[in-house]
Amino acid sequence: MRNKAIIAEVKTLSANISFRNYQFLKITAEDGTVGWAEFDVNFGSPGVAGIINELSHRLIGQSAMYHEFIFEDLRNMTRPGWGGVIGEALGAIENALLDLKAKTLDVPVYMLLGGKVRDKLRVYWSHCVSYRHGRASHYPEDKRIYDADGVRKISREVVDQGFTALKTNIFHYDGEGRISGWGPGMGAPYEPGRNVERKTIRDLHRHLSTMREAAGPDVDILVDLNFNMRTEGYLKVVRALADLDLFWIEIDTMDPKSLAYVRSQSKHPISSCETLIGLNQFLPYFEQQAVDVAIVDTPWNGVWQSMKIAAAAAAYDVNVAPHNFYGHLATMMNAHFSAAVPNFRIMETDIDRIAWDNELFTHAPEYRDGYLIVPDRPGWGTEPNEAAFAKYPANPALGPAKRTTPGFLTI
Ligand SMILES: [Mg+2]
Repeated sequence: MRNKAIIAEVKTLSANISFRNYQFLKITAEDGTVGWAEFDVNFGSPGVAGIINELSHRLIGQSAMYHEFIFEDLRNMTRPGWGGVIGEALGAIENALLDLKAKTLDVPVYMLLGGKVRDKLRVYWSHCVSYRHGRASHYPEDKRIYDADGVRKISREVVDQGFTALKTNIFHYDGEGRISGWGPGMGAPYEPGRNVERKTIRDLHRHLSTMREAAGPDVDILVDLNFNMRTEGYLKVVRALADLDLFWIEIDTMDPKSLAYVRSQSKHPISSCETLIGLNQFLPYFEQQAVDVAIVDTPWNGVWQSMKIAAAAAAYDVNVAPHNFYGHLATMMNAHFSAAVPNFRIMETDIDRIAWDNELFTHAPEYRDGYLIVPDRPGWGTEPNEAAFAKYPANPALGPAKRTTPGFLTI
């Protein structure tokens, strides 16, 4: 096996998808077989491509069949800086190696993970309302959402398209029912206290009630509070939403103890952990019983390392859900993980795509009755279409730390 999948070239590429750029890692073997991974820099992660390129010389001449050996070698080289963008770079490298290995063996990646335990994956429609409102100019006029009517319309559309679950975010409503997003955790608005006031809580309740009314009783509704509050605010919100019918409330905090306390006060299940890297970061959340569902970002962690995280979660009787708001390749990477882990809950997916998204990949995910069909093609089952990259070159004006305008002092 040592003479198979010998790495000859490591390259990062990117393409534009209107409101952000997609990032890819391409690892080519001496026999021409190519392993791909999708990674991301938009979600608070500048510099991942630079780290991959700086480490890439260590991969040349090695066999992708021994991806764990390579991962540990790279971990040795970066140990003091472990986590964050270093972890994301190693995760991307691992994912490309898995694709290359699977293609060399002519099997789907899930065969490297123990084989699949399910053929289809329940998904939820993520960023429901959020994309069509916050990035309205990128969608056709009839899809754009400005107010409560638009919120009702997309809620019905979720049902009409056969999906069984949706996830939304925090919105303010004005006197005319017009909506605006609220996310101080991401700097919009600039409010470093991340305090949540009465209006935000009242409007979030209204937003979720509006979606429930329009979607009907058979759809699961999820809400993502992200990093937008501190413990006091999360407590207020979970108490205020107690009378609603919710699938989960998603909360990001770096303190598992405070999250465990919030969970103890919540009528609804709590999900978290989407920004954690490595099993050592997840373990305190399991030990503290801080989450009902652990969200694992497999593009960040690497799918093989994510299997270890899922196994640890299973030992605490916790199910996992992949963090997935990227392009089709990342969706497929998450699909192989979700197909192979016994303790799978539900998979995130962005249904609102830009028109040319499908042009950038050889295969788009196939959704049927609210489920993603697990692909059986070799590797991840889709590849970036390099020919389309020339048509949609990466936009340098987009990227990390450019998503929102900074606040300014008025004193
Ligand atoms: Mg989230």
